[in-house]
Amino acid sequence: MSGFKTLDRLTDDLSAGSIVLIRADLNVPLDDNGAVRDATRLARLLPSLQKLSEAGYRIGVLSHFGRPKGQPNDAMSLAPVADALAGLIKQDISFAADCIGAAAQTALSDLPEGGICVLENTRFHAGEEADDSAFAQALAAPAAAYINDAFSAAHRAHASTHGITEFLPTYCGLAMQAELEALDAALGTPNRPLIALVGGAKVSTKLSLLGNLSAKVDKLVIGGGMANTFLAAQGHAIGTSLCEDTMLDTARDVMAEAEAQGCEIMLPRDAVIAAEFAAGQSGETVAVDAVPDDKMILDAGGDAVADICAAFDAAATLIWNGPLGAFEIEPFDTATNRAAQHAAMLTKKGQLTSVAGGGDTVAALNHAGAGDDFSYVSTAGGAFLEWLEGKTLPGVAALDKSQ
Ligand code: AMP
Repeated sequence: MSGFKTLDRLTDDLSAGSIVLIRADLNVPLDDNGAVRDATRLARLLPSLQKLSEAGYRIGVLSHFGRPKGQPNDAMSLAPVADALAGLIKQDISFAADCIGAAAQTALSDLPEGGICVLENTRFHAGEEADDSAFAQALAAPAAAYINDAFSAAHRAHASTHGITEFLPTYCGLAMQAELEALDAALGTPNRPLIALVGGAKVSTKLSLLGNLSAKVDKLVIGGGMANTFLAAQGHAIGTSLCEDTMLDTARDVMAEAEAQGCEIMLPRDAVIAAEFAAGQSGETVAVDAVPDDKMILDAGGDAVADICAAFDAAATLIWNGPLGAFEIEPFDTATNRAAQHAAMLTKKGQLTSVAGGGDTVAALNHAGAGDDFSYVSTAGGAFLEWLEGKTLPGVAALDKSQ
């Protein structure tokens, strides 16, 4: 993996009392009453904050929140998230009403050694999303160092993820480091055989991801609604199943390219069908060449799951994105649950390195009760998918450059 400066380097380089800025991802879902609904992203930030606090730095936390489009907007203030973070870390956290200028400078200078201040939403300024150099310089002004701990925001070249690195020595936070190491173990320098499972609804949204993965993995399991388009491309009648008719040639191209690259594509042998995608349906399992005209495929069948579990047994590394069926409605969560639980069991036994993320994947694995036993589950959405597509993430490139 390419290099970056860790927090251990920072504590060697910079003395206690200095002001440091850490780019976090505080963009968490809130309930109507302002309570944080899912604090996973906040919890992942704690190791870096605790290490910086123990080193005696004055810590400013930078983040975006929502899409205020360059204007202050009370509904998208980070103040409630700062309170939730204080509760989690069990330490007072102050709040600055602006992320630049006198408000930020005063709030940061007033901190005791080891103190933490959350700065207001970076996207209240148009310069954030424009990656404006003057705005990035204003962000950097109070600080002696910058730490990026927000992999989930690293696919955007914004002032707080990218431009700021022109003005401050740049370091990699512990959550970002764990994410990059997990991703490298999965796709950079993986133990082989390497298998990827890509499920979810549509081929069109995952085309470049399929192309990049088929060039790198030994086996590619295609599941979920996406598999229907591939089955149709192979000439199967798939009834009223979700299918992208305009993508049939593309699906054939993906299969041909994978074969040319020595990647085996696995499609389901059987499927669970029903009359409609609705609660209260009882699924019936049929072979994929026996789907009636008036039924739709909503999950992979038992034979398909057995194939997938056997492929996991033979693999050393697994990358997982997307569900195998319409997992939100029972019983169409069965294949996703079984395959996820099998991967979790193999991981626990030390037989498999399993890395998952993107879109609905975290929800699907947690629904299966398997997420905690995967080697790594990314909380990043777009950044994880862009990484699966093989793209360079500007926030990560900026870390490498600083080495
Ligand atoms: P994605 O965001 O692309 O990962 O897609 C996730 C969505 O795909 C979930 O909402 C699933 O309900 C849906 N999905 C998976 N399999 C099927 C299927 N066979 N038919 C319809 N929707 C599906």
